[in-house]
Amino acid sequence: MEKIKVKNPLVEMDGDEMTRVIWARIKEQLILPFLDVDLRYFDLSVTNRDATEDAVTVEAAKATLEHGVAVKCATITPNDDRVREFGLKKQWPSPNGTIRSIMDGTVFRKPITLSNIPPKVRAWKKPITVARHAFGDIYRDQELVVEGPGKVELVYTPRDGNQPQRLLVNDFGGGGVAMGMFNTDASIRSFAKACFTYGIGEKINIWFGAKDTISKKYHARFRDIFQEEAEGRTAELAGAGITYAYYLIDDAVAQTVKNEGGYLWCCMNYDGDVMSDMVAEGFGSLGLMTSVLVNPEGKYEYEAAHGTVTRHFRRHQQGGETSTNSVASIFAWTGALGRRGEMDGTPEVTAFARTLERVVTETIEGGVMTRDLLGLTTTPNARGANTFEFVDAVTAKLRERLAA
Ligand code: NAP
Ligand code: MG
Repeated sequence: MEKIKVKNPLVEMDGDEMTRVIWARIKEQLILPFLDVDLRYFDLSVTNRDATEDAVTVEAAKATLEHGVAVKCATITPNDDRVREFGLKKQWPSPNGTIRSIMDGTVFRKPITLSNIPPKVRAWKKPITVARHAFGDIYRDQELVVEGPGKVELVYTPRDGNQPQRLLVNDFGGGGVAMGMFNTDASIRSFAKACFTYGIGEKINIWFGAKDTISKKYHARFRDIFQEEAEGRTAELAGAGITYAYYLIDDAVAQTVKNEGGYLWCCMNYDGDVMSDMVAEGFGSLGLMTSVLVNPEGKYEYEAAHGTVTRHFRRHQQGGETSTNSVASIFAWTGALGRRGEMDGTPEVTAFARTLERVVTETIEGGVMTRDLLGLTTTPNARGANTFEFVDAVTAKLRERLAA
C-alpha cells in the first residue's frame, strides 16, 4: 500500500502515563503505516518538561504557531504529590495553560456521537460544541469579606490623570461579602474571533449567551463585541450557510436541552466551566470528548479532553489489564490530520482522517468497545475490549477498508 503524503509538517506533543502508552500504539498502528508525514516531535512528558525547565512546552507552542496544526497527548499538571513522585525541580505550570496563553487560543470541546451510545438527553441528535472564554471574570477576581458596617466602592483611576470614577457597590449595615472582577476588550474580541473562525470552519451555527438584561454594561460588552464580529463576517457566515444568534443565557440553557444539537455554544468563563461539564456528562463518557484549541488567526491544537488516566496507568504499571478508551485520542489525530489536509489542499489526507473516524465509529457500533462504554451502549451483548484489543480491532478494520 502506498503511503499518503502529508504536504506540511504536523506538530506532535507527547505526554504522560496511560495516554502516552495509548499514544504510541495509535501512532505505530494507525498513523505511520499509512501516512508519509513530517512529525515535529516534542516530548511534553513531565520529566522532560522538568529537564528542559519547561522550554519544550514553549517551543511546542511556537512550532504550532509556525506550522498551524498540532496534536497533543494528555499531560500531567504537577501538584505537590507529583513534584515528590518525580523529584521535580518545581511545580511546573499546566502545559495547556502555557500553550493557550502563547497561542492566545480558545478551547472548543466536542463530543463524539455514536448511534449505539445514546445521549442522556433524548432530544440530542448531533454534537453540541462548547467554547469557553478562559480568561477573567471570577477566575481573576478580588474578593472581600466585609466584617461590619461600611461602604464598598468601585474606583477607576484613569492613567491620564483625569478625575477618578467612584461607584458605590453597597453601604453595609453589617457583615457580608463583595467582589470585584474584570475582563478586557482585547480578550473578549480574540475569544469572539476564535469562535467565528471555528464555527465558520466547521459550518455550524454559532450561539452566544449572556445575561445582558441584568448586567447592562459587563455582559452587554460581550454581546456587543460578538455582534461586531458577526457583522464583520457576514459574507463568511453566508458562505458557510450558517447563522449567528445571541440568546439570554437562561434561554440558551433551555434551548440546549430541547434542541437536537449541531451548533457551537460560546460561553463566558463561568458558564463554560459549568456547561461544558453538563454537556460532556450528557453525551456519555470522557473518553468520547475531544478538545481543540483555536487561535484568532486560525492555528489549531487538537487533543482529548480527558487527562492521563492515572488510575488505569497504575494498574498497567503493575502488569494488570486496562480498558482505557482511546477514541478521543484517535480523534485528536484525525482532527489534526483533517485540518492539515484542508489547509494544504490535499483532500486525500482529509479523506484518510474521515475514514479512520468512520472505522472507529463502526467498530463501536459493531459492538466492540472499551468497558467505560458498556454501561452506556444499547447494543446487547457488546464485548468489552481491553486497551490494546480495541486499537487492534480498529487497526484490522482500517487495513481492510483501505485495501478495498
Ligand atoms: P482523567 O485522567 O481524565 O481521569 C479521571 C477518570 O475518568 C479516570 O480514572 C477514569 O475513570 C475516567 N477516564 C478518563 N479518561 C478515560 C478514558 N480515556 N477511558 C476510560 N476512562 C477514562 O483525570 P484525573 O485522574 O483527574 O487526572 C490525571 C492526570 O491528568 C492529572 O495529573 C492531571 O493533571 C492530568 N490532566 C491533564 C489534562 C490534559 O492534558 N488536557 C486534562 C485533565 C487532567 P475510572 O478510573 O473510574 O475508570
Ligand atoms: Mg468545569
